[in-house]
Amino acid sequence: MALVVAGECGIPPIPQCAEAAAVDVTEAALAEHLAQLAKQVPEGFTVISQSPFIVLGDEHPDVVRRRAVHTVKWAVDKLKQDYFKRDPVEIIDIWLFRDDASYTNHAHLLFGDTPTTRFGYYSESHHALIMNIGTGGGTLVHEIVHPFMRANFPRCPAWFNEGFASLYEASAENNGHIRGTINWRFKGLEKAIKEGRTVSFQKLTSMTETQFYGGDSYSQYYAQARYLCYYLQEKGLLVKFYHEFVASAASDPSGYVTLKRVLVESDMDAFKQKWESFVLGLRGV
Ligand SMILES: [Zn+2]
Repeated sequence: MALVVAGECGIPPIPQCAEAAAVDVTEAALAEHLAQLAKQVPEGFTVISQSPFIVLGDEHPDVVRRRAVHTVKWAVDKLKQDYFKRDPVEIIDIWLFRDDASYTNHAHLLFGDTPTTRFGYYSESHHALIMNIGTGGGTLVHEIVHPFMRANFPRCPAWFNEGFASLYEASAENNGHIRGTINWRFKGLEKAIKEGRTVSFQKLTSMTETQFYGGDSYSQYYAQARYLCYYLQEKGLLVKFYHEFVASAASDPSGYVTLKRVLVESDMDAFKQKWESFVLGLRGV
């Protein structure tokens, strides 16, 4: 299914026909995949099997190992602890290129791609996350969320898929759980709130992928969705919302009814004002 719209993270929309199969990647499939990779991995790369991913990088081997454990394994363990039961059904390679030049050159050499973002992107055809790790690990955690969301909530709408993934692009551990922290998306959202440009949550949650990803406002939609997730997290409601949303998705595909129920809010215009005050109060936190 070739869709051209893509988020700023480069993740293509989730094919609506995809259903997660409850099968794990087998050891045999993994061994075969590693044997194939060995034939194409350029010299100087370290290859680490970090289930359900393969991590490949051209930084110092100790640094690649550290990223595989402290970023990839940590994020996967923490996300599975609170949210995801199923691993992605496909083997996904995470390529960590050490700087702009390595990223651009290898994206071209290995995948025939010319990246449109300097941070990294997902290649659906190669089942690979192609990351410029020189820009930091935030985008990597964001991108790790998407294959898990596909495997566990294939009909997840764009607003929650991107809001939830964006939440963890800046994250830390708090009481043994993953917690999103305030990040660069705050500033643009603060400006949008002050200028009265935010959209109603009914509109945000009901957007099609074309409406969410297309047009000039996608960055604002990402931010609004992220800080709605952040609000839920800070009120101790995000884990509950995720599981109730998944369970109710057949009758409430946008999540709007579930959102109102979990927030215990009947007047969502009043809630939006409350949420905007909350967000504006985050400056200086
Ligand atoms: Zn994304």
